[in-house]
Amino acid sequence: MKIVLLGAPGAGKGTQAVKISARFNVAHISTGDLLRKNIKESTELGKKAKEYVDKGLLVPDELVIALVRETVKEIDSFLFDGFPRTIEQAKAVDDFTEIDKVINLDINESLLMERLTGRRVCGDCAAVTHITLLNGADKCGVCGGRLLQRADDNQATVKSRLDVYVKQTAPLIEYYKKQNKLVNIDAGREAADVFKDIESILKQ
Ligand code: AMP
Repeated sequence: MKIVLLGAPGAGKGTQAVKISARFNVAHISTGDLLRKNIKESTELGKKAKEYVDKGLLVPDELVIALVRETVKEIDSFLFDGFPRTIEQAKAVDDFTEIDKVINLDINESLLMERLTGRRVCGDCAAVTHITLLNGADKCGVCGGRLLQRADDNQATVKSRLDVYVKQTAPLIEYYKKQNKLVNIDAGREAADVFKDIESILKQ
């Protein structure tokens, strides 16, 4: 199964991707995670990507496309999370593989700023949470690790990421609708309810 998970930053792609990957045994491929790993390890790609990621801009298509092609070379069941993000990237995917389904996590944009600026990620186990769920605690509820804020989850960078989404990524909704692959899911609900809908669609 080859799935694309579409949605604005903060729509819950990462949370749903972890659940989908476990339930349907597909490799979770998050370009954001791959880029952050490269940045952390100061690879050549990481050095080039950092200036874009820090500003909330998209990393150039050719870099991201090459990274994904290399990553999926020997994988035939996967879930793309945060990729493709431009029409160019979507066309490149169509050149090297056939996507089965595209799940669009649909959410009211007014919710996103608050979701993203309040998001915290565990530095040890990578679990994601939100300050409104922590009741003042500063440790991860899963493993007790230290909670961190992603460098690009500050207000100015989030604003830029949301603008980039509207201009460069939202057109993919139409692109995949035309291919009859798009399924819209209301993502403004509890993660468990969103997942139930995704599960029933992928079981079909
Ligand atoms: P994410 O973790 O998906 O929110 O991605 C974090 C950042 O990584 C984005 O704001 C972009 O700077 C970069 N990025 C992730 N995926 C892509 C992509 N498919 N194309 C270009 N840049 C990307």
